[in-house]
Amino acid sequence: MQKKYLLAPGPTPVPERALADMSLPIVHHRAPEYSVILQEVRDNLKYLFQTKQEVLIFTSSGTGAMEGCVSNLLSAGDHALAVRGGKFGERWFDICKAYSVNVKALDVEWGHTVSPKSIEDALNEDPEIKAVYIQASETSTGVYHPVKEIADIIKKRPNTILVVDAITALGVTNVPQDEWGIDVVVTGSQKALMLPPGLAFASLSEKAWGFVEKSTLPKYYFNFKKEKKSLEKNQNAYTPNVQLIVGLREVLREIKEEGLEKVFKRHANLANAVRIAVQAMGLKLYTADEPSNALTAVWAPEGIDAGKITKLIREKYGITIAGGQDAAKGKIFRIAHLGYAGCFDVITAISALEAVLKELGYKFETGSGLKAAQKALFGE
Ligand SMILES: *Cc1c(COP(=O)(O)O)cnc(C)c1O
Repeated sequence: MQKKYLLAPGPTPVPERALADMSLPIVHHRAPEYSVILQEVRDNLKYLFQTKQEVLIFTSSGTGAMEGCVSNLLSAGDHALAVRGGKFGERWFDICKAYSVNVKALDVEWGHTVSPKSIEDALNEDPEIKAVYIQASETSTGVYHPVKEIADIIKKRPNTILVVDAITALGVTNVPQDEWGIDVVVTGSQKALMLPPGLAFASLSEKAWGFVEKSTLPKYYFNFKKEKKSLEKNQNAYTPNVQLIVGLREVLREIKEEGLEKVFKRHANLANAVRIAVQAMGLKLYTADEPSNALTAVWAPEGIDAGKITKLIREKYGITIAGGQDAAKGKIFRIAHLGYAGCFDVITAISALEAVLKELGYKFETGSGLKAAQKALFGE
């Protein structure tokens, strides 16, 4: 037997209480009992998103809600801007293309954050841009984009909305939707929400709902107006993944029990320890600017294929971390520290990384990463 550890940026480990709840017999989704569950879930989703708006729930992976944020907000030929600094930024661009949106890419070098000024310039250049699509945390590069500053620019423009994929930011970092004036926030179940994959969420500002009214792109399952109407009656439009909703009730309780402030602090501490530890081993962070607290992207040492690191760490120690995608494939590895994560996940990851790098011939002082992680986590 080999004990397994899931330290990739999604899916992430599920807390025991949620696992236990999800093993209970299925509740019928039109029964009054389900409405009671959904009422609590709706309230606590608003707490998590820090919004007064209804948080829409769909049975799909995160990309489903992303797609809905194009098909429900725009019409064919509308102008849009997608910040493309990683795999998920590319996804925004590709979805817009698929829906015949006139989308421009704002290309950002991988590993870097977008400058708010470049967004302002793009909007001045093309005032017809109706929506700006961005990630808060770009999971493929480990970057955290300055969404607050970008929201400040866009909220002054009545004809433009900001759509933020916060799939590895919500529940990790403070992204208060209403306070910052973010028009749309999207997340999924399998990242900071600590659930299996299969639920996607989107919350829209009043301004964004105005865009929904004017949108003529085709939509059926991901119909935001229809889902909102149903939710207001403590129902879902179509059969939801009932077990995941039951799990969601539990993880939202746990997030509320801990309190958002502490949740953010915990993630910041774990992220800080991992960054310090890998650098103490002589490794370099891939993320050149503001890093996301959800995961740490690290350059593989010169001459060592990152794929070998992720393979060996999985096969020998049962630990799943992530490699790089596309342009970063073979060059970087990514250690996640989001969701149901604590100090000893960091210790586990760094300890295994030391063992694997040693085996692959990387020269460094054994224990240097661990020592640095322990100091960061536990003090002197
Ligand atoms: C995981 C993730 C997604 C969603 O991917 P799905 O596989 O569709 O759940 C989207 N954006 C970011 C930034 C992500 O990390």
